[in-house]
Amino acid sequence: MFGHRIALFTLFGLEVRANTSWVLLAVLVFWSLATGFFPARLPGLAVPVYWTLGLVGMLGVFFSLLFHEFAHSLVARAKGMEINGITLFLFGGAAEMTSEPPTPRIEFEVAIAGPLASLALFLGFGLLAGLLAQTPLPEYLSALFGYLSLINLILAIFNMFPGFPLDGGRVLRAWLWHRRGDLLSATLTASRMGQGFGLTLVLIGFWTLLSVGALGGLWWILIGIFVIGVARAAYEQTALRVTFEGTPIRRFMAEHPVSVSPDMLLSTFIEDHAFRDHFSAYPVMENDRLIGRVRTRDVKQIAREDWTQQTLRRIMTPLEDDQLAHPEDDAQQVLDKMQRSHSGQIIVADGDRVIGIVTLADLLNHLALKRDLEA
Ligand SMILES: [Zn+2]
Repeated sequence: MFGHRIALFTLFGLEVRANTSWVLLAVLVFWSLATGFFPARLPGLAVPVYWTLGLVGMLGVFFSLLFHEFAHSLVARAKGMEINGITLFLFGGAAEMTSEPPTPRIEFEVAIAGPLASLALFLGFGLLAGLLAQTPLPEYLSALFGYLSLINLILAIFNMFPGFPLDGGRVLRAWLWHRRGDLLSATLTASRMGQGFGLTLVLIGFWTLLSVGALGGLWWILIGIFVIGVARAAYEQTALRVTFEGTPIRRFMAEHPVSVSPDMLLSTFIEDHAFRDHFSAYPVMENDRLIGRVRTRDVKQIAREDWTQQTLRRIMTPLEDDQLAHPEDDAQQVLDKMQRSHSGQIIVADGDRVIGIVTLADLLNHLALKRDLEA
């Protein structure tokens, strides 16, 4: 989701990374502060002062975003969830959780931690700005902290909108999940609210762009499209999780898969298997033991005239851990494994005994069928 990222530093055991698009946000914040906000708020200062204020203000925004995401991450970790670090990107920051909250209560606590942290910064910076205004120190110091206080209030309020993927959307989902006892239906509501919110942002963006001609409109359009996409994906992800989590993979596998012998000639393999049952890969068995797999497309490595002499042993590959599953493995974990390894097929085996085969297409068909039947 975040493309190319650079690791910045590690704090409390959490790696902070920046996606390259973050640079654009940093420049935008710096530029609007140094040439817009501070010159308008405090006229008559020297240009280098505006630039310095712009830079420090930008670093303050950066700090505020991280503070918010660290609040989510540290609460999540304290509740036993796995966190894969924090990534800064074009639209702010995101704490990357590798697992979903196990209960509505934990979801609520993790979600509310971010806006509460931002509210705390709003109060802290506001207090500091007020105190500095009473001292003989330059006025711009008070203005700087006043700005950061305001940014944190906006962060807290914006994030509390009750739609996915915003924090408020997670709070809403936790509440509905608790009330209805149904995670999927709670997610659907939060996802629809989020998509509506995203659409509203897009419309506001177009309106700003067309009526005022301000380029800032483009920004809202982009954020809106991003929100719609993430809100949709959240529902899809949850639908997968609800369908597959806690169910052993043997429930979804095709039993007694066709296997081949390593001594089979390539020509026989092509005629009797590849052209007949159209599987993309086959387990290779020797003396009732699973010794590897052969992919149909690897036949192309061998020249056609040699197909009547060469055997499958030439093109078979040993099985890696991510191509194998145990029949009692959780279906959700097997699906994760397939997505991680970009493989469309997993062999289900107990030791070296092949029990079945699962393809990504089978799992998705099952999901589609289940939805049709429930609709
Ligand atoms: Zn948040």
